[in-house]
Amino acid sequence: MPPSNPDFFDEGALVAVLTAQPLDRPLDYLAPEGGCHPGAFVEVPLGPRKVLGVVWGPGKGGFDLKKARSIIRVLDVAPMRDEMQEFLRRAADYTLTPMPAMLRLATRAPGLSNPPSMQKVYRLGEGEPTRITDARTRVFEVLRSYGGLGFTLKELSDQAGVTSSVVKGLVSQGAVREEDTPRDMPFAHLDPDLPSKALTEDQEAAAEALRKGLRSGAYGTTLLRGVTGSGKTEVYLEAVAEALRQGRQALVLLPEIALTAEFLNRVEVRFGARPAEWHSGVTMTERRRTWKMVGQGGAQMVVGARSALFLPFQNLGLIIVDEEHDTSYKQEDGVLYNARDMAVLRAAICGARVVLASATPSLESWANAEAGKYDRLELNARFGAAVMPELAAIDMRGQKLPSNRWISPSLQAAANARIAKGEQALLFLNRRGYAPTTICRACGHQIGCEQCDARMVEHRFQKRLICHQCGESAPLPTTCPSCGAEDRLAAVGPGVERLAEEAAALFPEARIAVLSSDLFGSARALKEQIEEIAKGAADIIIGTQLVAKGHNFPLLTLVGVIDADLGLQGSDLRAAERTFQLMRQVAGRAGRAERRGTALLQTFQPEHPVIRAILAGDEEGFWRAEADARRHAGVPPYGRMAGIILSSPDMQVVFDIGEDLARRDGPLRAVGAQVFGPAPAPIARIRGRHRVRLLVKAPKGAALQGAVAAWVAQVRLPPQARLSVDIDPQSF
Ligand code: ADP
Ligand code: ZN
Repeated sequence: MPPSNPDFFDEGALVAVLTAQPLDRPLDYLAPEGGCHPGAFVEVPLGPRKVLGVVWGPGKGGFDLKKARSIIRVLDVAPMRDEMQEFLRRAADYTLTPMPAMLRLATRAPGLSNPPSMQKVYRLGEGEPTRITDARTRVFEVLRSYGGLGFTLKELSDQAGVTSSVVKGLVSQGAVREEDTPRDMPFAHLDPDLPSKALTEDQEAAAEALRKGLRSGAYGTTLLRGVTGSGKTEVYLEAVAEALRQGRQALVLLPEIALTAEFLNRVEVRFGARPAEWHSGVTMTERRRTWKMVGQGGAQMVVGARSALFLPFQNLGLIIVDEEHDTSYKQEDGVLYNARDMAVLRAAICGARVVLASATPSLESWANAEAGKYDRLELNARFGAAVMPELAAIDMRGQKLPSNRWISPSLQAAANARIAKGEQALLFLNRRGYAPTTICRACGHQIGCEQCDARMVEHRFQKRLICHQCGESAPLPTTCPSCGAEDRLAAVGPGVERLAEEAAALFPEARIAVLSSDLFGSARALKEQIEEIAKGAADIIIGTQLVAKGHNFPLLTLVGVIDADLGLQGSDLRAAERTFQLMRQVAGRAGRAERRGTALLQTFQPEHPVIRAILAGDEEGFWRAEADARRHAGVPPYGRMAGIILSSPDMQVVFDIGEDLARRDGPLRAVGAQVFGPAPAPIARIRGRHRVRLLVKAPKGAALQGAVAAWVAQVRLPPQARLSVDIDPQSF
């Protein structure tokens, strides 16, 4: 019998290895020559293949040991720590996700099993160049800029904007040194003791509270609430500094890749070097390096997207979730998890601190702070002279706009006044493309996606129709696909591209920039555009919710919301919360520097309670009213919910399974839970699959996961059908 918790397995011992393959449990293998530690990353044979796995514990045995296969080899990466194993287990239990899928999240670094390889890097040399040119000067500037960090030839020549022969020339003269180093090298050192900005009294008090939390060495979560521009980032960077001083790692989660560039610059100014990055825009090689260095302590700080939570931190001390209310923290396919909640779980397991930063917290976090589960810190004033914008509604019922016009005369006049003073105006419309609907004037047909329950959206710059659900696209047709009429297709409703057209007509002298995620080929192009705009390269900015998220435009003093009612349609109980947050975020873009800003909301329902709360700026009042409504309905955060999505190419099949499940609700009733549905899912068809949803509602303390697991285990799915469980769904 192997001991239950050995700290080493000798060669030939039977061990259980968890792989990311869809198997229902870890498989037994023999420990390889030299033995292995629990948690070791290994390569094992599986059928004819070799796959990555983790030594999960002692083997179960119960079969002919002569048939057992051996682990092929132990990989040269740090073993998975116990706390990471526990995190994956508990996250799996919470989200009702099989362990292999969790492990896949935790090993998303291609080429982990490749042996360490060498690469050439370049640093400043001792020699003097024979001749100084502009190109050579740029090379030296780059080499000096990151505190002696080595660059690959490509990084160096790209950043300096020179050809590789310029670098090679400097190498031959000894002015640049070429060295062989392991490919996965540590990240440049971040120095927490470089001078920081002088914080205001409020900011300093908040920073000190966070530092104190870190010094306690115990888990804790703090909700850091402060209006946009109040210095939340400055404050939490001081918490990061404290973690770094303690020799612990810090993770900063951002909701949007487009925000990382600006943030990385701020980190570099504060700590003298750039942190590791982890998101879909990072190259494969760089990801592998980050993954390994996070595990070995060669990365002090990581800035990333939600999946960075699954990196193998060696000594994690602090997790910041910036814009914690943002819906993009919820992963909506594969493993359905909310990174904000998982950050709290991870921190609780490893004794780290969490800071949830937002100008407009989620109702969940607000309620947790009210209940005393989270500490609360507030920054009420904007930094410097900046004050909160003045808010007003434009009642669209009185505006008598001609058809196909969306900018009211009042908004136009306000924008003109700002532009005349050399300031900027933002026209906000949360709709990408030219027009949301394309309709045939002959037969009334609306062009929809063939695979989804969604309209095809015209994108005029690209001259295509695009489905925003599945990404399917087609050239703009000239004849109606339904009745064949020629040239009778009409664009209905506005998207940002169409709004830009209207603005060009209304403001003929103004320079107009459109910021929408689909208009930029790369994150870099977008970043450059944002920087240009910040410097004043545009008078009018037309944008989707991309601009609502944290960019600084110092000259921007007017925000015009084209359709403040947009998010209030539909039956989603979270609509009010989302609209409130989005409108406050957008309004917060106005007047960040010395000039007072104004936000004007075009609305057809100025008496709507949500619109009134936004205008009054009565945040506490809004949250209380919203909390009462949710408490009354027994929905989160005052009750628990789970969504079950059934999907199949055949609509009848999924409805039948759904009804069958709804009838067999015994396991749910046993914990006081109720089931609703089946009903068409919020997206009723996607990529050719029909989707129905059942919603389970349970009292706050109920053992929801266990009941749901037992409940769904009762059905057998036909081959084409799929079932996925969404604990804490975003919409209900
Ligand atoms: P938030 O994260 O709350 O939106 P930021 O931390 O981004 O606020 O601060 C808004 C702007 O004000 C930034 O440009 C920031 O550098 C500046 N700022 C905030 N606090 C200070 C300070 N104490 N000293 C100097 N600049 C500050
Ligand atoms: Zn589609």
